[in-house]
Amino acid sequence: MFKSLDLSEKGNPEKTPAGDAERVKCLIIGSGPAGYTAAIYAARANLNPVMYEGLQPGGQLTTTTEVENYPGYPEGVTGPVMMEDFKKQAERFGTDVRFGYATKVDFSGDIHKVWIDGKKLIEAEAVILATGATAKYLGIEDEKKYAGGGVSACATCDGFFYRGKDVAVVGGGDTAAEEAIYLSGLVNKVYMIVRRDELRASKVMQERVFKVKNIEILWEHETLGLFGNGVVEGARLVKKKGTPQEEVVEIKIDGFFLAIGHKPNSDFVAEFLDTDEVGYVKTIPGTSKTKVPGVFACGDLQDSIYRQAVTAAGSGCMAAIDAERYLSEKHA
Ligand code: NAP
Repeated sequence: MFKSLDLSEKGNPEKTPAGDAERVKCLIIGSGPAGYTAAIYAARANLNPVMYEGLQPGGQLTTTTEVENYPGYPEGVTGPVMMEDFKKQAERFGTDVRFGYATKVDFSGDIHKVWIDGKKLIEAEAVILATGATAKYLGIEDEKKYAGGGVSACATCDGFFYRGKDVAVVGGGDTAAEEAIYLSGLVNKVYMIVRRDELRASKVMQERVFKVKNIEILWEHETLGLFGNGVVEGARLVKKKGTPQEEVVEIKIDGFFLAIGHKPNSDFVAEFLDTDEVGYVKTIPGTSKTKVPGVFACGDLQDSIYRQAVTAAGSGCMAAIDAERYLSEKHA
């Protein structure tokens, strides 16, 4: 697709690491659709990418079941299988995929330093950050018990499986509002479980929610637990907790959608990069470039709006192209 880069003529920088450090041209951190796509493009451009997969190889998609909205899989595919396909494709072109977790960085110099598992030091000319975001969960035991059996943190991914059924969305922000509206077009009924007596969502989203007939807002409700034989069949909630009117209620649902926010996995780079108030890494609009030359961000780490596998993959491609051009110019 794009021009390959031969650094050997300029003196291979991999031969001059400091101390015990390993020097690489292109380091990719994170292994969801963004990271693997960046790896495919970087490997095909002869950047010899080294990828550290992180704590959850394959990323968030490995926690979903069926993926039906990724083009190229007409029959659908499970998240783990799709990520395995991405990985094989990245490895086919020579990506060195390793297990390990980036714990610390130093982006203050021309060569970027990244520590893996708190020990191994990698020195990279270009770094592609694809560490994604982690959906927040309530932290109740039943979320784990029914993972893959009715509990989801992505309505766009999983809503289709609940056509004609009743579901609940937890949260009162813009994401919850969007997900409730999206689900309302597919399912019989959507309960929104909202812990306060008002929504956090923007006014315009609130108005949209209020207009939808099959969304019922359960104000001042919190989730105590889920029940069901192997899969979610209902939720036990507490209403007006801590007041004289406190009451435990049950709703019958087949799907329980968390929409209480995402946390971008950016803590380890926050000292060197600009992030927004939630922690999403800021990039120069229309590019994957961060404020540090040679450091690129893609996928959910920098995307608070779309957060889809296909958009993450697209941004991973952008990051590899930006990295290749950066290295080309540097060694011109
Ligand atoms: P958010 O704005 O932080 O809202 C989180 C919601 O979850 C709040 O209603 C919060 O309740 C609730 N919540 C948090 N922890 C909870 C818990 N433990 N139990 C029960 N409820 C809990 O998150 P978001 O909706 O994901 O939005 C994140 C950002 O992206 C926002 O800035 C949002 O505007 C933006 N966004 C924009 C769009 C758009 O423009 N189309 C779409 C999606 C998101 P409290 O209100 O009581 O804290």
